[in-house]
Amino acid sequence: MPLSLDQIKLTHPHLHRAFSLLDDGEQHLQRISELDRYWSLVKHPVREVILPAERLPADARISGEYDLIYAGGTLGLLHAAVMAGTYGRKVMVFDRRLPAKSTRDWNISRQELLNLSTTGLFTEQEVDSVIVRSYKTGWVGFYKPDGSQKRLYMENVLDCAVDANRLLGMAEAKVQAFPGCRVVAERSFIGCYRFDDHIVVEVEDNQGKSLFYRAKVLVDVMGILSPVAMQLNEGMPQTHVCPTVGTIASGFENADFDTGEILVSTAPADTTSGTGRQLIWEGFPAEARQYITYLFFYDEVDSPNDKSLLGLFETYFRTLPEYKKPGKDFAVLRPVYGIIPAYYHDGFNRTREIADDRIILFGDAASLGSPLTFCGFGSMVRNLSHLTADLDRALSDNNLSKRHLEKISAYEPNVASMANLMKYMCFNSATDEPNFVNDMMNEVMIVLDELPQHYRQAMFRDEMKIEELIHVMLRVAWRYPRVLTATWEKLGIQGSLGFLKNLAGWAWSPVR
Ligand SMILES: Cc1cc2nc3c(=O)[nH]c(=O)nc-3n(C[C@H](O)[C@H](O)[C@H](O)COP(=O)(O)OP(=O)(O)OC[C@H]3O[C@@H](n4cnc5c(N)ncnc54)[C@H](O)[C@@H]3O)c2cc1C
Repeated sequence: MPLSLDQIKLTHPHLHRAFSLLDDGEQHLQRISELDRYWSLVKHPVREVILPAERLPADARISGEYDLIYAGGTLGLLHAAVMAGTYGRKVMVFDRRLPAKSTRDWNISRQELLNLSTTGLFTEQEVDSVIVRSYKTGWVGFYKPDGSQKRLYMENVLDCAVDANRLLGMAEAKVQAFPGCRVVAERSFIGCYRFDDHIVVEVEDNQGKSLFYRAKVLVDVMGILSPVAMQLNEGMPQTHVCPTVGTIASGFENADFDTGEILVSTAPADTTSGTGRQLIWEGFPAEARQYITYLFFYDEVDSPNDKSLLGLFETYFRTLPEYKKPGKDFAVLRPVYGIIPAYYHDGFNRTREIADDRIILFGDAASLGSPLTFCGFGSMVRNLSHLTADLDRALSDNNLSKRHLEKISAYEPNVASMANLMKYMCFNSATDEPNFVNDMMNEVMIVLDELPQHYRQAMFRDEMKIEELIHVMLRVAWRYPRVLTATWEKLGIQGSLGFLKNLAGWAWSPVR
């Protein structure tokens, strides 16, 4: 029985009031509770969805045959459009909801976004047409009780607001335009059956009827709820998460449409539940008079904190006026939300499973985006060119085993190493003073402010070089020795060794 707004009237009154004013409030509530199912899935026995050929039902009829079948119609559409357009591959994309409809919008720099034109997917003009707002500068600031926080300004970082649905809609139209390629709505992934020379994907339509399609490779782009990622990673597909909620709204009294607020904390850690959490806001100008605000926190996947999006949305609507003041014309146009995945690789290289024979994972299903900036869209854009070229080569050479496919990945050692820094952002009341994250980040901002712009841009655009990171870390430790004891408390021997392994893997990697 799906959750209804009436049922949350007493438990989540602020959320109830805000969503009741939306035409599609009930639908969003259902999508949010669907995402919150994640918490009951992790670390539990996994549903087997990758099955041997013998388990294919005897009466299964193949309804279509493709080079690539994409389960998930968000970032998958970008990849599929290149595979169809640039490489002439026959693709099918399906989604259990409407494809090309994201529950979020994206920020990125124009320079990064232009990668989409180098793949041949879009022209530069098309890329520019999805940028609905560019702002002049952005800043980061962490709360200090006496108001002495450093506000760190930076340019060309996350300074373009992208209309996600417009971008994905363009990619969808491109896929549909190629002969033999399809994008299908309201089809749910049920499982797949592996044969030596192909894979059969079982899909359920909105009437509950099973359909079977044959492909050379299944591309899993089902996001954080991917049952394939759950199975391949034995029920622990992420080590950390960033639950994020927010709105695209209009009518704030104090929104600055020329400036992005990239990371802003306005209070000490909230210690009302579990180990506590440091809540962080973001605010970005969007199209016309619209303004996007997000509330999120970094956490371990299995911490005792309430990490439900439902609970976080209640906190968001309750505390929003402390961050941005809704005026008398304030109106929520669309809620935005998701559980952003993060993975800490305990080794010199990637340790998370992202492929199997005839199966490859991209996007949040692969969880290789930055665990610090959480720019999963940015990761896909940065890596799209090689993720498509390499998969095309693998198809041509018929190198479709796990060993070959797992080499086609968005793993970047510099990005992966950021998981160690992300651990400092996960508040823990057992070891941290309520302002631990704020104080530490304030020192990082002071250090970055003393260094050339390039350092802060690299850090917030996931482009840090190892020598730059070490330089920043040493300067922070010099200014703020408390970070050394915190390293011991937060990372321990195991974690500190893991950090060194990550750094060594990064130093030895061909791309530094
Ligand atoms: C609020 C928020 C703001 C963000 N802002 C930014 C940003 O500014 N910049 C940036 O770079 N990144 C940002 N991110 C991260 C970025 O949105 C994600 O990395 C990206 O959306 C991941 O895309 P995906 O296609 O891998 O997964 P998803 O977007 O989760 O899409 C998965 C798709 O798979 C479908 N699906 C799931 N299960 C099934 C099934 N069983 N059968 C069929 N289909 C299924 C879903 O319906 C969905 O359409 C943000 C994330 C959030 C939550």
